[in-house]
Amino acid sequence: MKTIEKSQKLSNVCYDIRGPVLDRARQMEEEGHRIIKLNIGNLAAFGFEPPEEIVQDMIRNLPSAVAAGYTDSKGLFAPRKAVMHYTQEKGIAGVHVDDVYLGNGASELIVMAMNGLLNDGDEVLVPMPDYPLWTAAATLSGGKAVHYVCDEQSDWYPDIADIKRKISDRTKAIVVINPNNPTGALYPKEVLEQIVEVARQHQLIVFADEIYDKTLYDGNVHTSIASLADDVLFVTMNGLSKNYRSCGYRSGWMVVSGEKRHARDYIEGLNMLASMRLCANTPGQLAIQTALGGYQSIKDLVGPTGRLTRQRDTAWKLLSEIPGVSVVKPKAALYMFPRLDPKMYPIADDQQFAYELLDQERVLIVQGTGFNWKDPDHFRLVFLQDTDNLTESVNRIARFLDGYRRR
Ligand code: PLP
Repeated sequence: MKTIEKSQKLSNVCYDIRGPVLDRARQMEEEGHRIIKLNIGNLAAFGFEPPEEIVQDMIRNLPSAVAAGYTDSKGLFAPRKAVMHYTQEKGIAGVHVDDVYLGNGASELIVMAMNGLLNDGDEVLVPMPDYPLWTAAATLSGGKAVHYVCDEQSDWYPDIADIKRKISDRTKAIVVINPNNPTGALYPKEVLEQIVEVARQHQLIVFADEIYDKTLYDGNVHTSIASLADDVLFVTMNGLSKNYRSCGYRSGWMVVSGEKRHARDYIEGLNMLASMRLCANTPGQLAIQTALGGYQSIKDLVGPTGRLTRQRDTAWKLLSEIPGVSVVKPKAALYMFPRLDPKMYPIADDQQFAYELLDQERVLIVQGTGFNWKDPDHFRLVFLQDTDNLTESVNRIARFLDGYRRR
């Protein structure tokens, strides 16, 4: 029989968050091992429940969701209007209901946005480290993700000089993930303004992934980059998965704003792609209004004594105490991206490092190169486990690193 192979389009596509190390962890669990998972930002798995009013509305809305059947490709009017109001609250000017697209999570819309834009060889500037879906989606679309450095020495802010260096005549867009996964960075207005200026000068589209825009610690405030100009085209992604702990509802949105007049053809392409998948799931669409209009209970989790704040502080303090480990304290989101001093920990292959940590200490992390980081000297830790489990797992990481050093 002829072997059935995956398409060549997939040959350079990589998504290590759900890669082979996770497969190994699953196998170990089947064999009866208890694994402490610090690998994935799925709030539901760690007892973070969606706001009760969303659940109740979801139950109540189910018959009408079924009755609605397929909706308009961009989504139902009322939730899109709720998103429009939300963009207004965030200072994004000139958004019409027609500029709002609902999707099965931001993920679907990210893939759509890249597919609609890129021709073979077109370049998109993507942060390094990144949330790897952006690189994967650009690559799958035939484009090329060109990675700009985020600078660990400067709170993981984008390195503007590096962005400028990496622009070529094939560059079509820049991706800005703010708040950031995997670093937990939150960019100040001044940094965002510099990115807007570069986009303006080189006529780049700005893709803004703002899915953690309410998961902010220490009283920090989020600025939507699309609020900073109306002469640049912005495509902003957001959704219910994180701020509303509702990732199972697969509910996200995308807003096109700014200089839309010159983007009619691209927008037509987006409309076509939205039509081809008919529509986003209807119950997920109906949850948006309740979520955006209701009590923003994320505040309780990220406040001074909130569960997420306590977990962040525990993980950050314990990691920082390990010799040769440095970690920028996250200002937002659910992640930190610790550095392992290569002089103390000469790691040649960080996937192998992740396997060994799993085998020896039953702790599951994702290696830094899984986020397109250039060197095998970082890993991502998700701080969703409770403080007891976080303490135990970071102690295990410390013990593992101690052994690693002495090899
Ligand atoms: N963008 C970022 C930065 C993420 O971290 C994630 C999920 O972890 C997504 C997008 C995908 O979100 P959704 O569940 O809406 O597809």
